[in-house]
Amino acid sequence: MDLLEYQGKQFFAQYGIPVSDGEATGDVEEAVAIANRVGYPVVVKAQVHVGGRGKAGGVKLADNEAEAREHATNILGLDIKGHIVKTIWVEVASDIAEEYYASFTLDRSAKQYLGMLSAEGGVEIETVAEENPDAIAKIHVNPAEGLSEEACRAWVAAAKLNPKATEGAVDILMKLFTAYVEGDADLVEINPLILKPTGEVHALDAKVSLDANAMYEHPEYAQYDATQPRDEREEAAHAKGLQYVGLDGSVGVIANGAGLAMSTLDVVNQVGGSPANFLDIGGGANADVMAGALEVINDDKNVKAIFINIFGGITRGEEVANGIIEAMGRVQLDSPIVVRLDGTNAEEGRAILKPKLSDRLMMEDTMLSAAAKAVELAGN
Ligand code: GDP
Ligand code: MN
Repeated sequence: MDLLEYQGKQFFAQYGIPVSDGEATGDVEEAVAIANRVGYPVVVKAQVHVGGRGKAGGVKLADNEAEAREHATNILGLDIKGHIVKTIWVEVASDIAEEYYASFTLDRSAKQYLGMLSAEGGVEIETVAEENPDAIAKIHVNPAEGLSEEACRAWVAAAKLNPKATEGAVDILMKLFTAYVEGDADLVEINPLILKPTGEVHALDAKVSLDANAMYEHPEYAQYDATQPRDEREEAAHAKGLQYVGLDGSVGVIANGAGLAMSTLDVVNQVGGSPANFLDIGGGANADVMAGALEVINDDKNVKAIFINIFGGITRGEEVANGIIEAMGRVQLDSPIVVRLDGTNAEEGRAILKPKLSDRLMMEDTMLSAAAKAVELAGN
């Protein structure tokens, strides 16, 4: 779950990381009232799930009420890389002496946490990594051991920040690490982490991604669900409780299990087609789930053929077959279906489908031949 900047800052604040006083709103006059409360100069910042807002005109300094109103008016409704700004965050502006970069994420191949710190902040870290990789100090942290203050100090020294920033940076990075681990985040990033002329270190931006699988330990994370970026199809699928990711091809895909769903996308590509979506119906291949999945796929106007790829385990073949037939009776489909049914009780399932086969419902013996058929029907 990706948080907006202001949500990320509220998350940071809970762990004692210094952030600027501010408030979020979707209304111009309310933005002006917030600016008046926190005091000028203020920064008006677009709240969208994409970086580079500054360059796109989504971050503006205002010295007085008239400027705050002007920036709020211009930024609300702005299109930043396809994301329309509905919310702005207004905070008291900070004086900046230097801009740094700091983050924690998981290094899967090293099976350890990875911290990155750079004296070259403010710009995208990918650019620093490409043009000046030595400017990024990295630290691997063993999850079983955690981050000691000693190791943190050595890491900060390696990043060659201004010596004035050392104490503040160590303090914030220790807290950022705690936020990352205890908050069950996949990513915490501060860019820029600033050194003020007064010597304080402070988080000026926040990028936080929380692990949705840890929701059971953090019921309050449910509040972030409403602001997740989803296209219309993903919104509809999410409402039905389906694991769906929208893609831009023409073959609608339904599979049971995330692994099989991903393999299905690969096979569709392999035979020259392009998948319209990822959709994992999990173990629930009953008529309700199948009808919901078919509805979501049918509403996607790019879809020209549907590939249902089921390998029964706990899910039984006859259940899937009955689910498909019943769902087809409920949903008026614009595209033909190709089914591949294997695994537990596949024989029984195929026997149920056989008398119903037509040019709207086809069955193939293998995953590869079914993919090829679906791609052919989609006109690729
Ligand atoms: P991003 O472009 O989406 O990463 O948005 P940021 O929050 O990182 O802001 C972009 C840039 O705006 C920062 O790198 C700063 O240079 C500038 N900026 C943001 N907030 C302030 C502030 O309080 N004071 C000053 N002087 N500049 C700011
Ligand atoms: Mn930033």
